[in-house]
Amino acid sequence: MVSRVIPVEPFDLVIFGGTGDLARRKILPSLFRRFCDGQMPDQARIIGAARSDLTVSQYRDLIGQALQDALDKCDCSDENLAAFLACLNYIPIDAKGTNGWDDLAAIMRPDVVQAYYFSVGPSLFGDIAKRLKKHKIAGKDARIVVEKPFGHDLPSARDLNATLAKHFEEHCIYRIDHYLGKETVQNLMALRFGNMLFEPLWNAQYVDHVQITVAEDIGVDGRGAYYDNSGAMRDMVQNHLMQLLCLTAMEPPSKFDPDAVRDEKLKVIRALEAPHPSDIVRGQYLASEDKTSYLEDCENPDSKTESFIALRLHIANWRWNGTPFYLRTGKRLKSRMSEIVIQFKEPPHSIFESAPGQGGGQGANELSIRLQPDEGMDLKVTIKEPGMGGMRLIDVPLDMTFAEALGEQATDAPDAYERLIMDVIRGNQTLFMRGDEVEAAWAWTDPIIDTWKAADERPYTYETGSTGPEEALILMHQDGRRWRDLKV
Ligand code: NAP
Repeated sequence: MVSRVIPVEPFDLVIFGGTGDLARRKILPSLFRRFCDGQMPDQARIIGAARSDLTVSQYRDLIGQALQDALDKCDCSDENLAAFLACLNYIPIDAKGTNGWDDLAAIMRPDVVQAYYFSVGPSLFGDIAKRLKKHKIAGKDARIVVEKPFGHDLPSARDLNATLAKHFEEHCIYRIDHYLGKETVQNLMALRFGNMLFEPLWNAQYVDHVQITVAEDIGVDGRGAYYDNSGAMRDMVQNHLMQLLCLTAMEPPSKFDPDAVRDEKLKVIRALEAPHPSDIVRGQYLASEDKTSYLEDCENPDSKTESFIALRLHIANWRWNGTPFYLRTGKRLKSRMSEIVIQFKEPPHSIFESAPGQGGGQGANELSIRLQPDEGMDLKVTIKEPGMGGMRLIDVPLDMTFAEALGEQATDAPDAYERLIMDVIRGNQTLFMRGDEVEAAWAWTDPIIDTWKAADERPYTYETGSTGPEEALILMHQDGRRWRDLKV
């Protein structure tokens, strides 16, 4: 197959926290894949920066090992690995001190794209941003990339935005939400705005409800203390699920341009009604035969933090009036699966003897957009069951698993981090969150969490390997609906 990859401009990318878990498991393997694909130009350089006193050669050894651990399925040659490692440099630097900053200033090139990836805790963002400017390292158009969590609540997100804004303009700030880099998420926009088929039906008149599920089968594994201070609402809903909701519900932007898209997403967040407590179910996973419970994992027997949440939400605008959006996410569930389901209404009148709901056919179309596993989409349509026996209706999926439909093109598609890092170098902010979006999401989230705190109630419990607490099923049953299966 002819490669469609166009190399990006020459760049210097500094990874603060270049020795950390995220850099080793995600950022550098992603860059390596782009390198192997020919997207990194010869003049590109990557500079790791952290406090550890490593030589460049020790850093290359560390990253060489990390790449081999992370990329078992990669068929890149030893030659590629050696060539990639030769692009790496390392500078010992202390984000809070004076060490290393002049050395960094001395090697940065002013005439190439400069990007600074803050792969460190948010408490260091301000220190790094300040020093990049104070030491005249970052040029006017230098980009900074910041990781989640972007704040813990509205005041902390505002502080973080204000701190970064003192040193960098908004068009230079790239707030990563890796969900936005997923192929299917972008395909959601292509599906909606590149076709005539769906958009006329994409509203309360034709859509019965929408389900957004992000299910994980793992627990809080090793992150118990951090997670207990956060919970599913802060860790997943405020950012990832909110972004999926926005892309599903937003109005067509006037063009595929960063601000046009982000303006429309912001309007959705602002139109989200505050859910009533009865619209929310929170849960904590129980121990199983071989696994510990949430309370054991977070080492806090009194914890009231949720490892699962289901919500029934309403968007107060013309398009969605009367169409609920059901969101759920949790840990230690039956399977690892993320999808968006658009459940259309049943036809208003059936002309067939075998009416909707009989003969196996439901009569209501269902479009599901799978983020993982097996990225793809399927559309459930009702057809006549083949053979004799009259007009018996059955539902069949029109399935498009990208890997099957598009072959190599889909299986070789870059992963979310690869795409997003290349977007930073290209200067394209469409798939990154704007400061006002993040603040609006917290402004919606905070009062909900405050209500829980005031009520001081324990979340429901659920079995490890289940679909969450019973009460989440009831939330749907009350409305005469049901969640889609979490397929194993
Ligand atoms: P980590 O493994 O603890 O790494 C932290 C990095 O920061 C290390 O390289 C550390 O190196 C460096 N560092 C710490 N203090 C420093 C200082 N004063 N000056 C310069 N460097 C310093 O953390 P991580 O898991 O990579 O996470 C980094 C950030 O990404 C966090 O905000 C995290 O929440 C976020 N994140 C991580 C993941 C993930 O999968 N890991 C996913 C999403 C978001 P030295 O100790 O040598 O200085």
